[in-house]
Amino acid sequence: MGVIIGKSIFPGIVIGQPYIERKKKLDIENYKIASSKIDEEIKRFLESVQKAKNDIKQIKSNLEGKISKEDLQILTVHIMMLDDPQFINDIKKGIKKEENNAEAVVKKVSNKYIEMFEKIADPIYKQRALDIKDISERIIMNLTHEENAYLNLNGKILVIRELLPSELLKMYYSGVNLSGIIMEYMGETSHTAILTKALEIPTLMGGNDIFSVDWGDQIILDTTKIEGKVVTNPDIKTLNKFEEEKNRYKNKIKEINESIDKETITLDGERVCLYLNIGARLDITQVSRKRPDGIGLLRTELIYMDAIEFPDEDKQKKIYENIAREFDQSHLNKPIVIRTLDIGADKKLSYYKMVDEENPSLGCRGMRLTLSDKDLFKNQIKGILRAAKHHNIKMMYPMITNLREIQEARELVDQCKAELLQEGKEFKEDIEIGMMVEVPSNVMLADIFIDHVDFFSIGTNDLTQYILATDRYSPIAEKLYDSYDPAVMRAIEIVTNAGIKKNKKVSVCGEMAGEELAAIALLSFGVRDLSMIPAYIPKIRNLVRKIKISELKIIKENILKSKDSQEVKNILSEYLEKIEGRN
Ligand code: PEP
Ligand code: MG
Repeated sequence: MGVIIGKSIFPGIVIGQPYIERKKKLDIENYKIASSKIDEEIKRFLESVQKAKNDIKQIKSNLEGKISKEDLQILTVHIMMLDDPQFINDIKKGIKKEENNAEAVVKKVSNKYIEMFEKIADPIYKQRALDIKDISERIIMNLTHEENAYLNLNGKILVIRELLPSELLKMYYSGVNLSGIIMEYMGETSHTAILTKALEIPTLMGGNDIFSVDWGDQIILDTTKIEGKVVTNPDIKTLNKFEEEKNRYKNKIKEINESIDKETITLDGERVCLYLNIGARLDITQVSRKRPDGIGLLRTELIYMDAIEFPDEDKQKKIYENIAREFDQSHLNKPIVIRTLDIGADKKLSYYKMVDEENPSLGCRGMRLTLSDKDLFKNQIKGILRAAKHHNIKMMYPMITNLREIQEARELVDQCKAELLQEGKEFKEDIEIGMMVEVPSNVMLADIFIDHVDFFSIGTNDLTQYILATDRYSPIAEKLYDSYDPAVMRAIEIVTNAGIKKNKKVSVCGEMAGEELAAIALLSFGVRDLSMIPAYIPKIRNLVRKIKISELKIIKENILKSKDSQEVKNILSEYLEKIEGRN
């Protein structure tokens, strides 16, 4: 019997047979093409690119609503890469010049790009290298018609060093039902991780030395805790214990589904509001079942990313109104918080040239960018003001660094209102305006910022990266990027307190709001508004219903005394364990 520890990516308990995949190299034939057949070969290549694009679009629409819109952008990036004229032309030219088959040229050209990106230290480019690898393998797969190679994997737990998103999707769409995945590669925020969550496959990443292990015929994969566990060759006693755990977990899922229609209220009667984080579109059927209290974060950059040029004021008004109208049908006049454009760093627009910067995450992103292009910003503000006339819409700014920015934005909002008035257009005069808390300066000056806005929404994804000076997308820095770090916890507590003192709403809309352990901590600090992707709402509602706010005082005190994130997690896990049996 052996044990492998790693990071849980999607929760579950599986007892099953391992399928060990010592990753094969994609064998690519290399042969000459007669000059008279070159055009045909280029056509064959272009068709395979088109097929790749169609496949990705199909996958994207199948995943809408299952994962956050932000995460779905992986696929948009892949589509954009398949449209990149330079990449495509390099391959076309290569086929012509070298008179080689398309597969070989695709491999050669993409290797050139991969090497180029891998040499750049910035992790965003390392991710680009993986993206190129992925799309090139997809094109080659289409060219070679290599399909259904994975059928004997059905029902098994895949053990693999590294799995590309396209491989996983290929398995999924060829009908393979993986019961679990164990990977050596660690990348909690990688595209593969996001897809395993979307496809709901219990997954462990970062397992050490997985090929030096004697796996045996049966293994246990348990990813129900943050630290995931694999037991190889389990003895009968261990098997029985995990069978029991598996049943317990199954019951918990059942319980979560049953509490979906109940009130989000703690055992001692405190009401908690659960909101949605959404992107460019709203899948109302998906969302209604979850009974959200509103939309806590509408990431408008996804609307801009979906477009081929900047959407003008009228277009924006229409998009926001459509979302609000659809939402209002089943959630009468519940609030919708529209966040103004937050591009820069990893989020780019194909039709807008960003300035090249050494450090884009610390550069012209979010509010800094919109304030530097006032016409662009005014279009959005006017669109939001107009859509808010007949809906409960609020506006929120991302990535604020100092008060001057809020003042500048206020002047712009006033200008917009004056212009709309002059143009005879209807708009909401007294729209509520809030800010994301994402930058450490917001924490230090929370008591001052709060006087200048109507509400705070803590963006813990960015706040964590900026407090810990750790890139949220870097696989290298993955171990340091941890929202449970006591430094982040204290920051959240300070900000929440500033809001409570002034009787203003403080919500949390980063990923952690949808995690059980984090939600306990947030509630202990006094947060009563949590915003998350739709899928997490039932789980958090069920959790809230087991909590007694009166018990959280000590939890808060202990968290604020903690020295590291493990200590914080231990405190929270202990409480979660204690309340889990409650009904
Ligand atoms: C955040 O930073 O926590 C957040 C919600 O914003 P985004 O993830 O879009 O940067
Ligand atoms: Mg953010």
